[in-house]
Amino acid sequence: MVTTVLCVLFLAAAAVSAGIALVAWRRRTDASGFGAIAFLNAGLAGWSALDAAELAVRDPRPLEIIMAVSFVFVCAVVVGWLLLSYALADRVWHPSRRLILLLSIEPALCVLTALTNPWHGLFVTGFRPAGLDGGLVATYGPLFWAHTVYSYAVLAFAFYRVVRLWSATSSRYRAATFAVIISLPSAILNLVGLSMSGRLTDLTALGFVITAPVMYWMVVRESMPGQAPVARRHVFEKIGDAVVVVGRDGRILDVNPAFEALIHLLATDRPDGLIGRTMIDLLGPATTLMPGRELLTGADRDQTLENAYGSGLDLDVRTSRLFGRGGRCVGWAVVTRDVTDLNRQRRELARANDRLRDQLTTIELLRADLAEQALRDHLTGLHNRRHLMAGLARLAGAGGPLSVALIDIDHFKRINDRYGHAAGDTVLVRVADALRDAVRPGDLVARYGGEEFVLVLAGPEALPRVDALRELVATTPIEVGDGRTVTVTFSAGIAELTGGESPDELLESADTALYAAKNAGRNRVEVLSRI
Ligand code: GH3
Ligand code: MG
Ligand code: MG
Repeated sequence: MVTTVLCVLFLAAAAVSAGIALVAWRRRTDASGFGAIAFLNAGLAGWSALDAAELAVRDPRPLEIIMAVSFVFVCAVVVGWLLLSYALADRVWHPSRRLILLLSIEPALCVLTALTNPWHGLFVTGFRPAGLDGGLVATYGPLFWAHTVYSYAVLAFAFYRVVRLWSATSSRYRAATFAVIISLPSAILNLVGLSMSGRLTDLTALGFVITAPVMYWMVVRESMPGQAPVARRHVFEKIGDAVVVVGRDGRILDVNPAFEALIHLLATDRPDGLIGRTMIDLLGPATTLMPGRELLTGADRDQTLENAYGSGLDLDVRTSRLFGRGGRCVGWAVVTRDVTDLNRQRRELARANDRLRDQLTTIELLRADLAEQALRDHLTGLHNRRHLMAGLARLAGAGGPLSVALIDIDHFKRINDRYGHAAGDTVLVRVADALRDAVRPGDLVARYGGEEFVLVLAGPEALPRVDALRELVATTPIEVGDGRTVTVTFSAGIAELTGGESPDELLESADTALYAAKNAGRNRVEVLSRI
């Protein structure tokens, strides 16, 4: 009856373990812990199933064979547990070929001696009906005990690794703790069985009944192996920054592959072994790629320098001091980053920035030019009416003395009619030049429209100035092309600011005066107040 119950339990544990092995195997690429758990559970499944078979068999011959085969799985469990202790400490760990070979020696010998037991009897010395319900129980020989001592030594080592890992890592990595806990019931039952050698059925597989659900929870529900950390050594090996550890005497203690690659770029001859050499050995006495002199003499600053090397390499070098137990500096970690590309990008960016700044300046000049053009007459280059009105309003608002002269070329239509429109334009430009030359700082000159111009004259004595200008224009011949010259006159009306007049009122008064000048025979200047 008890045998049947145990058989059922063992088979159930075997089934669950096999299931877990399958699930974990499928996830083996996520983290090496899954692979280890798959291996371990395959071992547990085989061990439990064969234990169930052993309970059922009452004949020593087949029992001996079943037991010999079961040691394949017993050994797999031992090895699996060791693999798990590595995998939990480093999720990207993989057993080396050497380790696999080393770990398979003992299982091969163990299974071999168990299978050849009928000829030497050194593994099992006999079977006695001392088990539950009178089942056969083996009494063990010296080779079995050798195997047991070896297995427990491996387990103890794995156990030590897991405990050390548990105390070294943060509580997030609970997987390690569970690996210890789940192994305990089986280990205890195994030890009990061993201590009562030959007098009790081996109940180790009963422990697996407890192990299986915990394993299931750990792998399937919590996915714990996936939470295992990555060993720092891998980070050191894989990072792109070149790292070198230098002792106090300047000799290299450790390097990562990125540093080896960097040295191959920098060193003229290709050095093979780096450990034990100095940077000066490798790169010559001028190298700055080593702890600076002040650091070697114990200055307490870390050092950052960026320098260029041959082959146009820009390096960002950071040196950090490493301290021993007593706080004494024992060496330096030099982290070097190739910033050539970064610097090139920076320079390109700076150049692009300069170009952008130049473009902005050009745009600003163009904008100012456009704004200015909007205020100018394009034929004569004088300010236009819009600008005149704004300027006049400002000057009139500031108070006098101030005069506005409205100038109109006499019989201009005739010029156009006789010499052509282009000749008319030339005349307009020349008269505009004469006006521009006549103004002083503080005055304004503008083309008012057609052949009319306005002068705003700051200060007194407007009449003599405008009259002198009239005289000048009237006596200056203008070349209008094809060797022809014309002389034009203008009439002008002046209005003086007496106080409070608006720009429009001033221009209106000037127009009245101009009208008077035209009526009086043209080529003359009239002042409104004197009419
Ligand atoms: P008045 O002595 O009475 O001022 O006679 P006027 O011929 O000068 O005056 P009117 O107002 O009859 O004619 C002005 C002419 O100016 C008419 C127009 O064709 C001409 N005009 C206006 N703007 C321009 C221009 O930009 N270029 C040229 N070539 N002619 C212009
Ligand atoms: Mg006119
Ligand atoms: Mg005119």
